[in-house]
Amino acid sequence: RTVYVNGEYLPETEATVSIFDRGFLMADGVYEVTSVLGGKLIDFAGHLKRLERSLNELDMQKPADFDNLLDIHRELVRVNGIDEGLIYLQVTRGSDGDRDFAFPSADTKPTVVLFTQNKPGLAHSEASKKGNKIISIEDIRWGRRDIKTVQLLYPSMGKMMAKAAGCDDAWMVEDGKVTEGTSNNAYIVKGGKIITRQLSNDILHGITRAAVLRFAKEAQMVVEERSFTIDEAKEADEAFTTSASAFVMPVVEIDGVQMGDGTPGPIAKRLREIYLDESLKTAI
Ligand code: PLP
Repeated sequence: RTVYVNGEYLPETEATVSIFDRGFLMADGVYEVTSVLGGKLIDFAGHLKRLERSLNELDMQKPADFDNLLDIHRELVRVNGIDEGLIYLQVTRGSDGDRDFAFPSADTKPTVVLFTQNKPGLAHSEASKKGNKIISIEDIRWGRRDIKTVQLLYPSMGKMMAKAAGCDDAWMVEDGKVTEGTSNNAYIVKGGKIITRQLSNDILHGITRAAVLRFAKEAQMVVEERSFTIDEAKEADEAFTTSASAFVMPVVEIDGVQMGDGTPGPIAKRLREIYLDESLKTAI
């Protein structure tokens, strides 16, 4: 696989970053994941805009190659022959050659890394046909979940807890209310209404969420942006998640409670189809 690091395209075995990089030492970095379908980037403009916002919120300078990011994404997709898959972009605050809590001087160059993941069959995955079984766990993350940082230890632990329980993923709960999934936004459907938590610093402002809610409204579906409890979720007609890496993913079980008949619900299935159709039209 060819990867991109700080201005160069290299074989992955030859790409390096400093051991003092603040991404490595302090999780001082942000990232984006964009899906690739038919060799094209899905929702790229949204991901780029959110990257810019994440950088701003953390007082990180824009990397010099910021304006070339579209070309860099496209080049990696091309050289690695990706038809369906993901492309991962990480920007860290870099390093001035030592470890210190204080940020390095403002002229320290950010580290920019991109790599692809080939995932044939992503759009019509077996997982999306079966739906996910999830568990709920307490949300103990920091208070700025709207910034897409590389502090992914707790979400990783959440996935491991789900796995240990024989499930696929976890939803996080704070003050009794569902915040989001480990790597996705969370939704329930009750009486035909699509319910998902309102935007705030408590959750990531999903790019897929924004698109799916827009398509749902265009299809005359009712959307309610508000918090919901895990108990309300267990009594819902359906549940699902959204993310760039799994699009719309039905949820068929929550904490051992089966949703509906235990198969993906009709609204989740329809939204998945609409999202795949519509987002392909604007893929670049
Ligand atoms: N919430 C969290 C915590 C995530 O990590 C992600 C994606 O990685 C999402 C939500 C979904 O965001 P997006 O649709 O932009 O991929």
